[in-house]
Amino acid sequence: MPTPDVARLLASDRDHLWHPYSSATNPATTRFVESAHGPRLTLRDDDGASREVLDAMSSWWCAIHGYNVPELNAAAEAQLQRMSHVMFGGLTHEPAVRLGEKLVEIAPAPEADRPKLTRAFLADSGSVSVEVALKMALQVFAADDRPRRTVLTIRGGYHGDTLHPMSVCDPDGGMHSLWRGTLPQQLFAPLPPAGLEADPDELEAWKRETASLYREHADEIAAVIVEPLLQGAGGMRIYDPECVRFLTTLAREHGALVIFDEIATGFGRTGTYWAADRIGITPDILCLGKALTGGYLTMAAVLCSDDLARTISERTGAMMHGPTFMGNPLSCAVALASIDLLDTERLTRAAEFADTLDTHLAPLRELPHVADVRTLGAVGVVELTHDVDVDAATAAALDAGAWIRPFRRLIYTMPPFVCTDDDLGTICEAVTAAVHACAPASEQAP
Ligand SMILES: *Cc1c(COP(=O)(O)O)cnc(C)c1O
Repeated sequence: MPTPDVARLLASDRDHLWHPYSSATNPATTRFVESAHGPRLTLRDDDGASREVLDAMSSWWCAIHGYNVPELNAAAEAQLQRMSHVMFGGLTHEPAVRLGEKLVEIAPAPEADRPKLTRAFLADSGSVSVEVALKMALQVFAADDRPRRTVLTIRGGYHGDTLHPMSVCDPDGGMHSLWRGTLPQQLFAPLPPAGLEADPDELEAWKRETASLYREHADEIAAVIVEPLLQGAGGMRIYDPECVRFLTTLAREHGALVIFDEIATGFGRTGTYWAADRIGITPDILCLGKALTGGYLTMAAVLCSDDLARTISERTGAMMHGPTFMGNPLSCAVALASIDLLDTERLTRAAEFADTLDTHLAPLRELPHVADVRTLGAVGVVELTHDVDVDAATAAALDAGAWIRPFRRLIYTMPPFVCTDDDLGTICEAVTAAVHACAPASEQAP
């Protein structure tokens, strides 16, 4: 392949494209990726120099098996020979049917006496799956005399960027002030106390406040939605499973639905297949996405029980949603192959990342500008006492051999599950270099 004219492409990128959360007048630094293999990206600079770095982000947490994976390539290529896409309205195909069966098979079912999640709605992105989950919950009550229209969640969450999911994102982090009058008004319980085992007094106080908010609005609440165990893009916060159990009890007492958004936590990221498994709760509705296709193609899904699907259909006629690319055969075929690759061995390995990450990152706790270091499953987070200097942190990490994408006060990694111990060591060196690059001038080594 000829070497691309990187300088020209980057200039054109700046002139014509939007990047995520980007300003056209003050564009952030954007780097050029030429290809990717295993857990590594090949970057090319505008002077033509190329370098390989580990992808400590798994491309926003989805490329769990790394890149250019033979099994996933083969699944995509085989499906391309049949068809890349057909509409899902009135038609079906083998990849979708088999993915439906597979999703039902792998769905969390830690509570033996709760309905199994046996029906899947295939959506084209995580945000759309949250839209669909919220629509499902609202449709359950839509035909009532006084329909329940409100959703309760906890502060600090992230559920996507389209408007209805934005309404349940953290009101400050989700910039609700920009959208006043546009977003539906939802209910926000306080931020859950930090840590897998919260301080008992803090937990009691949180429960009291949450219960009183819930009871005040119980007859308006259609559903509770949370990211179980780990709040991702809202702040990489690990919290006590007891908070999720408590919210579930409140919702069930008052006839509301429980929605787990496992778009980030699913597929082994937090150390169990689903965060729901560790919490011991089977939700009424489950959103999954990100790692579903191993980072190859965009796809998400919403699972619910057959009972709930029937209730929605009897009360409102149909599930009113139907994306153009719903059930895309290419995505379904790759998702099937990706789920097959995520066997016990790979899951166990990912669950053990936390120990390795903790060993390497623990020394950072000693630094005055580090507020916290936390790990869970295949997630490692360093929280600073101030906002990250993103350009300095990213450059330092790349020099140490890994690509990171810090935000707010957080420098973190969610590595591909195929990383070796050496790869994890390099990733931690890169995170460490990034943390040092953000030290106040008075603390930096000369
Ligand atoms: C990423 C994410 C979403 C949104 O998914 P997209 O595919 O980016 O639309 C929703 N919820 C959670 C928990 C996420 O991490």
